[in-house]
Amino acid sequence: AQVYLNGEFVPVEEAKVSVLDRGFLFGDGVYEVIPVFAGKPLQEDAHMERLYRSLDAIELELSQTPEDFHGMFTRLLELNKESAKHLTIYLQITRGVVEKRAHGFPEKPTPTVFAMTIPLEPNIRTSLDEAPTGRAITQKDRRWQRCDIKSTSLLGNLISFQKAYREGMAESILIDCKGRVTEGASSNVFAIIGDRIITPPLSKRILGGITRALVLEIATRDGCYLCEERQLKVEELREASEIWITSSNREILPIVELDGAAVGAGNPGEVWRHIAGLYRIYRDQVPEINDD
Ligand code: PMP
Repeated sequence: AQVYLNGEFVPVEEAKVSVLDRGFLFGDGVYEVIPVFAGKPLQEDAHMERLYRSLDAIELELSQTPEDFHGMFTRLLELNKESAKHLTIYLQITRGVVEKRAHGFPEKPTPTVFAMTIPLEPNIRTSLDEAPTGRAITQKDRRWQRCDIKSTSLLGNLISFQKAYREGMAESILIDCKGRVTEGASSNVFAIIGDRIITPPLSKRILGGITRALVLEIATRDGCYLCEERQLKVEELREASEIWITSSNREILPIVELDGAAVGAGNPGEVWRHIAGLYRIYRDQVPEINDD
């Protein structure tokens, strides 16, 4: 595979970063994951906006513009188009290499910019009848208070996810100290209660998922169900007729079991089928790039 590192496209084996990179020393960096369906990046502008918001939050300035990134992605996708039909672009920016390890931000950092493609899960385009489902557990949310920054420092998320992973589950759903759902270890959470689609509101306690926003937009425009962005108690989650997790990698994944108990009838629900269908139509209509 060919990857991008600091202005060059090189085979992944040749891409090397110094041990004095602050990304390695401190996890001092941010990232994005952009899904690419049949060569078409989904919601690239929204991903770029979130990237620059993350960079602002960590006071890291970049000379590259979103247009520069667009050009780089186009070339990267071209170089890797044989590797899989559907990919994600992983983009990571760190505060770069320093002379010595010290906490303070360097005055004139040279950010390390890295991007690679990763094949998307092969079942992502199966029919809705065969679409994957997952089981989840709840875990205490022990992370920091700036989860809105898409930081590469993910230990809090990793530790939470590990228990689910060990047990063959799809996700750990995180619950704050007041018993409210925040999000999944690597996803946002939706619940269907009555005829409403409910998801926790944006705050510094969650990452504003691009998939979350798109699902809300599609569902609101469709109008069949009411959408509410509001606090969601874990007790309410346990009574929900459907639970979904959303992310760029997993689209809208129905959770059919929570902490060992069936969610609704233990199958993907009606509302999921409706919204996931609309999501796929939207996704597959994004205009082709590179087709001149
Ligand atoms: N929350 C967290 C903690 C995540 O890691 C992710 C996936 N990157 C999401 C939510 C979903 O975000 P998106 O839909 O933009 O992939």
